[in-house]
Amino acid sequence: MTEVVTRFAPSPTGRLHVGGARTALFNWAFARRHGGKFVLRIEDTDRRRSSDAATRGILRSLAWMGIDWDQGPEFTTDDGRTLGGDPNSVGPFEQSKRIDLYNEHMRRLIDAGLAYPAFETPEELEAKRQEAIAAKRGYQYDRAALGIPMPERIARMEAGESHVVRMRMPEEPITVHDEVLGDVTVGPEEFDDFIIRKRDGFPTYHFAVVVDDALMGVTHVLRGQEHLINTPRHVALQRALGFGTPTYGHMPLIFNPDGSKMSKRDKDKAAKKAVRDAGLQEPPVGSIGADEFAAWLKDKTRQLGTDTLSELAGSLGAELPEIDTEDFIEAGYLPGTLANFLALLGWNPKTKNDDGTDLERFDTDYLAGNFDFAGIGKTPSKFDRTKLLAFSADDVQAMDDGVFAEAWHAWASVFDAALTERFSAADMRMLAPAVKQRCKTIRDGRSVVGFALVGDDAIAFDPKAVHKVLIKGERKGLQALKDLRPMIESIDPFTPEQVEAAVSGHAESTGLGMGKVAQPIRVAVTGTSVSPPLGQTLAILGKDSVLARIDRCVASVEAQAAEV
Ligand code: GLU
Repeated sequence: MTEVVTRFAPSPTGRLHVGGARTALFNWAFARRHGGKFVLRIEDTDRRRSSDAATRGILRSLAWMGIDWDQGPEFTTDDGRTLGGDPNSVGPFEQSKRIDLYNEHMRRLIDAGLAYPAFETPEELEAKRQEAIAAKRGYQYDRAALGIPMPERIARMEAGESHVVRMRMPEEPITVHDEVLGDVTVGPEEFDDFIIRKRDGFPTYHFAVVVDDALMGVTHVLRGQEHLINTPRHVALQRALGFGTPTYGHMPLIFNPDGSKMSKRDKDKAAKKAVRDAGLQEPPVGSIGADEFAAWLKDKTRQLGTDTLSELAGSLGAELPEIDTEDFIEAGYLPGTLANFLALLGWNPKTKNDDGTDLERFDTDYLAGNFDFAGIGKTPSKFDRTKLLAFSADDVQAMDDGVFAEAWHAWASVFDAALTERFSAADMRMLAPAVKQRCKTIRDGRSVVGFALVGDDAIAFDPKAVHKVLIKGERKGLQALKDLRPMIESIDPFTPEQVEAAVSGHAESTGLGMGKVAQPIRVAVTGTSVSPPLGQTLAILGKDSVLARIDRCVASVEAQAAEV
């Protein structure tokens, strides 16, 4: 039996959409399950829309999710492993570096009369299309170029005349066998002699993908259902080129719960809504001009770039839906949680838990050991964000505190400079048990410790908490706060343990009880009545800051009382 070889072939025109991440995950899992190889190929023949930065972002997202590729662009992970490389000499893995190879195979087709150069200008083709539309006919290329004798066609091409190369499609129907959807047959009336090399000399996606899958030894192709329409053309090309046909499986699309397709457009929609809700007429950020802003706002189909959208939303305090893998990383999801959730979008392990319920929670090792074509569904999958968040909350709570602290620190090093400037890794370890408890994703940690990230004179006091804890009952709370200041001043060293001991000693000796002592301090230093345990809350602030906050709180409440 030949070795299983699968591949993931992203176009580096933007970030890695979660649908793409799912495709990568399934191809990876299938290769692992069968002890085969997983290839990563960068489909960058659309030079205008592709970028190296996008390629790097995609590699980073894949590596983050625990997807390691055996062959492909080299990449060093954070923990120092090198992924990719070219052990079988089938690279390079960027299509833009394979042009000579494509031309070699293209030439074989042209010489055999199975593909041909065509010289119509884009304007001429457009005129023919308009004619067809006016006559209410479907438009197909009319093969006019085939009227030019073959030696002449080839001579004109070789002389450098501007041309495209078209595939000469066969006259008989083509049946694609799909492991998920069954046999799909397309008749010749639906074929057009499609372009396989563009005017700029670059092959189209169809040609490059067929040559590469063959030369890279790909045996199984799992991809989104949106590609099914292309597959008969690929099979025709494989036959013309004398290549075998890999086993195909087309996976269901991913939809939003409201039934719309989950796409990058959703971010644009959300940003437009936020801008409208805020009643903004002028752009709130510098990166977009007033005219462009107005045109964008008016036109449903007009879209802004991801960075501008994030800036816009950020300036309005609005959140955009997470769509790309990087969005989920930034939102603080753990790689295993996202991988598990994505695997369930379209794949069913068809296994029961001990209690008879369907198995839903599993890790990537399980997927790599059990993934099969048979479990892939035919119908669209719904992206249920509530379920993802529930998975995430469970996974965060199941983390060991030390592991949480490390993950939190690693996350903040990338996404929250203010947090790592304020807290050392050791601080974060100390806070971890209390913070973890209140987190559904790693990002939530910030709000738990937000009180420590603002200046002593910038704490906003929650009026309800102030009233309940300090003012109600003849301002006993406020008095308690004033009375305990010297006790706090005398704590040395100012560690969580010493703070806890001193505060509970004070609660006992005054007969007030812990709540009546701890809550006034908490409100004074955090502005609210919830925070991590008091020892940690105070220790993380440091004595000077705690005293300054207590003084400011006392002054502010007394000033308020004087006004009434
Ligand atoms: N570059 C294509 C895409 O990103 C790959 C399609 C395929 O898997 O053949 O959609």
